[in-house]
Amino acid sequence: MISPQVKAATTLAQASHQLDPHTGAITPPVHPSTTYARNEHYEPTSPNLSYSRDHNPTYKLAEKVLTELEGGADALLFASGLAAANAVFQTLRPGDHVVAPVVMYHGLRDWLSRFCSNWGVALDYFDATNDGALEQALKPGRTRIVWIETPCNPTWDVTDIAASSELAHDAGAYLAVDSTVPTPVLTQPLEHGADIVFHSATKYLNGHSDVVAGALVCRALDELWTSIRFQRIHTGGVLGPFEAWLLLRGMRTLAIRVRQSCDNALSIARHFEEHRAIERVLYPGLESHPGHAIAKRQMHGGFGGMLSLLVKGDSDTARRIAGRTKLFVPATSLGGVESLIEHRATVEGPQSPVPENLLRLSVGIEDSSDLIEDLEQALAA
Ligand code: PLP
Repeated sequence: MISPQVKAATTLAQASHQLDPHTGAITPPVHPSTTYARNEHYEPTSPNLSYSRDHNPTYKLAEKVLTELEGGADALLFASGLAAANAVFQTLRPGDHVVAPVVMYHGLRDWLSRFCSNWGVALDYFDATNDGALEQALKPGRTRIVWIETPCNPTWDVTDIAASSELAHDAGAYLAVDSTVPTPVLTQPLEHGADIVFHSATKYLNGHSDVVAGALVCRALDELWTSIRFQRIHTGGVLGPFEAWLLLRGMRTLAIRVRQSCDNALSIARHFEEHRAIERVLYPGLESHPGHAIAKRQMHGGFGGMLSLLVKGDSDTARRIAGRTKLFVPATSLGGVESLIEHRATVEGPQSPVPENLLRLSVGIEDSSDLIEDLEQALAA
């Protein structure tokens, strides 16, 4: 057992110092068994271990690391980020009210709109860049969940978690924060009053573009958490043991990966801020970004590895640039060790609110001068 005083990088590198009690192995075994034998008294051999949709020792290890990193009371892993988000919203009842930001991960926004209209849940979107918009959107006594994403995809606008949690709580609602981009290395939303932290663990937590996974961490073992746990067990969107093992391995290097991505992203943002081919760089680490002051307060040790370039030109110009990069891989997703470039409007489709000249960069851990050179040649051609 690791001391609760150690820093995040130590918890991560040692996977919370969870040595295998049977063999002393410092790399944990994978437990693929779906079912667990009972003893001669017909009691479970290990407490809670009965069937792998409910509990599995491999995903429990990864959940323990996440609980410690976020400073929470418990964590649950899911088969994807969207499965985790589903578990939160499926705790709602017809007549409840939900508030979510206009700019957020588009897959979740689309699903949430359909879910709410199908299940009689009222939904209001609010402009997270507008002070006062959240307060206006809340319906005290009826709003049950306020969802925020910060920095949000793909403008990297920053939402004040502490202020949002105060407003949500005053209205009798829970605050859930999509913290995929900052990761617990940069921001711990529970410390700012959030009730639930969400991660697409597919991204930075795993970090190697080879696992699809989701995670939730709670501040308290309350009614909401009991209901979320029920959803995972009974809808079955649990993470498989092999993926949980890969995730645990990926998380061991999270602290240094995030730091390197932040440094690279800041170098790229600064280099292209005044560039002749660029209209604007969107990155919360730049003083020019409207969310910079909140980001400085809320993000510790960096501003994340995600940024967007608004190029001078139209959709075709942006897509041509994305097609010319030689190191940045033109692909969706984010948070891997390799850098990706994406024309978001194409990926989100015709209803997308994303500007047509926006290129989203997921900055990896390569050498920043190589990445800058690659973008320079793609912009120059
Ligand atoms: N939240 C954010 C910020 C994301 O970028 C994504 C995926 O791109 C998701 C949620 C959904 O997660 P998943 O793809 O793991 O289901």
